Amino acid sequence: MQSTAIYPGSFDPITNGHVSIIKRALRIFDKVIVAVSENDAKGPLFSLDERVAMINQLGLDRVDVIPFKGLLVDLCVEKDVSVMIRGLRAVSDFEYELQLALANRRMNRDVETIFLMTDYKYSFLSSSMIKDMARFSGSIDGLVPEHVKIALQERFK
Ligand code: ADP
Repeated sequence: MQSTAIYPGSFDPITNGHVSIIKRALRIFDKVIVAVSENDAKGPLFSLDERVAMINQLGLDRVDVIPFKGLLVDLCVEKDVSVMIRGLRAVSDFEYELQLALANRRMNRDVETIFLMTDYKYSFLSSSMIKDMARFSGSIDGLVPEHVKIALQERFK
């Protein structure tokens, strides 16, 4: 049987920190489903379709990218997956991630959350930080994939 994990997030846009988590998850699981949440509450810079397309453009083997709305635990049941991956950067991520993991466990005890530590190179990196840097023409070389850098430059032109 193939082992599969779901890696959920807004990915607005995907950064090299996210890519590092996906690649490391692929060393543990046969397949990773990257679930891109609509997340209108955060007022995303890129549409859901654009965010999905940017991750697909990475052309990663054994990775499926899907858009999703609603509850993660429902998605896990729909896809018959019992492991969710989340990335941890700093202690500051811990409180929110613990809350999320416990809420998900309360809703479905069969779904486990696994945390992967960020690569230290990307520990300060978040999508919002990248957007701020790009908005004011700061250098984002090496922090996002090349096509994401171009998309950001286009958006802030
Ligand atoms: P969300 O809006 O659901 O937090 P994000 O797209 O911001 O979604 O992040 C998705 C997941 O990736 C989260 O678990 C987050 O902690 C993790 N993550 C974000 N940036 C990094 C990074 N630089 N290194 C490792 N993990 C990260």
